[in-house]
Amino acid sequence: MNYELCPHSGFCFGVSRAVSAAEELAESKKPGERLLLLEELIHNHLVMEELRRSGAEMVMPDELDSIYRESRDASRITVVIRAHGIEKALREKLRRLEEADPRIRIFDGTCPEVSRIHKIVDENTAAVSGGIQKPLIVIGSPGHPEVRAIMSYAHGAAVAVNSLGELEELLRHKKFTNDGFMTDRAGEGDLSDSGVAVVAVAQTTQMLTEWKKCRKFIKNLYTNAIIFDTICRVTELRQNEAELLSRRADLMVIIGDRLSSNTAKLYEISKKNCRTVFVDGVGAAAELHVPGGIKVGIAAGASTPGGIIEEVIRTMEQNENINASMNEEKGMAVTEENFEQMLEESLKPLTTGEAVTGIITSIGANEIHVDLMSKCTGIIPISEITDESGAKLEEMFNVGDEIEAIVVKVSDLDGVATLSRKRVENIINWRRIVAAYNEQTALEGKIVEVVKSGVIILLESIRVFIPASQSGIPRDGDLNTLIGTTQRVKIIDLNEQRRRAVASIRAVLREERKAVEAKFWAEIEKGKRYEGIVKSFMPYGAFVDLGGVDGMVHSSELSWKRIKHPSDVVSLGQKIDVYVKDFDPDRRRISLGYKTEESNPWNVFIEKYKKGDVAVVKIVNLMPFGAFAEVVPGTDGLIHISQITDHKIAHPGEVLSLGQEVEAKITDIDEANQKISLSVRALLEGNKSDESDESDESEVTEEIEAAEEIPAETSEAAGDTADDQ
Ligand code: SF4
Repeated sequence: MNYELCPHSGFCFGVSRAVSAAEELAESKKPGERLLLLEELIHNHLVMEELRRSGAEMVMPDELDSIYRESRDASRITVVIRAHGIEKALREKLRRLEEADPRIRIFDGTCPEVSRIHKIVDENTAAVSGGIQKPLIVIGSPGHPEVRAIMSYAHGAAVAVNSLGELEELLRHKKFTNDGFMTDRAGEGDLSDSGVAVVAVAQTTQMLTEWKKCRKFIKNLYTNAIIFDTICRVTELRQNEAELLSRRADLMVIIGDRLSSNTAKLYEISKKNCRTVFVDGVGAAAELHVPGGIKVGIAAGASTPGGIIEEVIRTMEQNENINASMNEEKGMAVTEENFEQMLEESLKPLTTGEAVTGIITSIGANEIHVDLMSKCTGIIPISEITDESGAKLEEMFNVGDEIEAIVVKVSDLDGVATLSRKRVENIINWRRIVAAYNEQTALEGKIVEVVKSGVIILLESIRVFIPASQSGIPRDGDLNTLIGTTQRVKIIDLNEQRRRAVASIRAVLREERKAVEAKFWAEIEKGKRYEGIVKSFMPYGAFVDLGGVDGMVHSSELSWKRIKHPSDVVSLGQKIDVYVKDFDPDRRRISLGYKTEESNPWNVFIEKYKKGDVAVVKIVNLMPFGAFAEVVPGTDGLIHISQITDHKIAHPGEVLSLGQEVEAKITDIDEANQKISLSVRALLEGNKSDESDESDESEVTEEIEAAEEIPAETSEAAGDTADDQ
């Protein structure tokens, strides 16, 4: 028989978890104990019969009270809740019973995917802080136990419909009220409920295509709708596989119970594409006639045990007596031998330390559930995921994601395998560290601890030691300043066997510095301006950090005036604008300029004054032939002794004193030699000096000529010269 089996066929993890637990409880049941399955644990009559044979009793909720009364002599009563959940009120009742009677034990077989919907409905339809409750729309089979249970968690009105058609029909006649309930619609045009914040969810096994249509319709009709995609990933996966396979097959065989919702959906999907039949067990398979030479596709619902799938296929093959012919496309086809092996492997017990890969089926606040396609449900507690306090698992993972983990504990009784994601990450992260060491690339992490002679950096999940000498902190510095900082490091030593690594921040800093220097030298040019920081002084100039590379400003380039020390002009740590006067890349020397033409005092003077102007000047030096006075900072002029006052004096000090400010007229500006002639006398009232001017004229001319040999801006130097003389 040429057949192909959908890769995801048979028990899903939710069903597997509930059935395994019931089987183990039945096996361990002692005389005098009762094991009650509350309604059908799963929708598969063959499985239910098997459980009954093992001693479990199937009971209806309304029988619970009478069974309890009859069970006075029972030493233990265990109640198992079915995979697709029970109504809220019934759950409450069971909880109260369990609290009141120590003989009662409840095993909650509700699939975590279903529990998640209960929580969504409970939280989102409730009235919050003085608000109003919200109505609920469930897209699913109204009479299905799962849908009934979901609706029981609603706080306001709750409706369930199977399809878009049913939803449209319902809302033609009914509308939601603002307080979360339902009433009759006045007519076709009555859309007064369009602003109501309805909550919408899907039954876990709902047809994906129908849900998408309904979701779009609800979104368009209710602007404030809150919609949750709650179709179980297992269902989605199986429906997609059935859709694809039924398009290639001539005949689709759906193995499972007609009452199982997800099995029925596989049938509905497949029959749109090719002839499709239901086979619920070996008996039905024996009666099935499969013509030779056709391609047979096989899918099985989530409540169909692997053993039944295997037997049905074997029976069909015996019927046809045709050798299996396999299509190995994408590894989806299987031979009889490898099918058995596949089933065997899927049921193979998990072992501690084993690496497993599964699909995330639900995410809670403190754990995530993983479908391992095995008898056990994988559970990863938050402590095995991260050490970060306040970490939100729903922000780290998505339902449907594939995840790799290490098995740390297996509990066959609970059907649960405890997994660790941290251990996988440790392995992956260690591999990253080894690769970074081999390739000499940098890694980034946070400094978490100061230890003896160094600090610890967390590289992803691996603690790595950084010796103090490699920390980038000076010898007498405080390593605690690194705590909490993110650092880039290079691995400088590695011991693979002991899984120990040593890292260095300094190595990264050194490399970064080299890169900065190389870039700087590639881009430097004469005249280029930089903002630098004054780093140190020498008697002859100041060193300036230009961003990783130092240059030097000679004292003569710091100021237009003669200075005694660079600190007369700039201070350590000061930001200054400099430009490149010259550089030598081979000797790594850069000469910088700081003073500029704009700051040249002569230019400032020329800009501000012209011949004939009157300026307030400050006496800065007294000489026998006259007084030097500062006109603008850095530029002095000469007041000849004859121009100081309107009568004859023997020395300027008779009238003027150092630091004194006087008004003077600018009588001449010699631009070529940068000299300024000033006169106080010219401003004095009257013209008494005219006679003496004339009589002294020849003498004055001689003295001015002598004084003009002294540059205008060097009054201080002139003073020195006078003293020397
Ligand atoms: S089909 Fe999905 S929701 Fe239903 S039991 Fe399986 S895993 Fe849970």
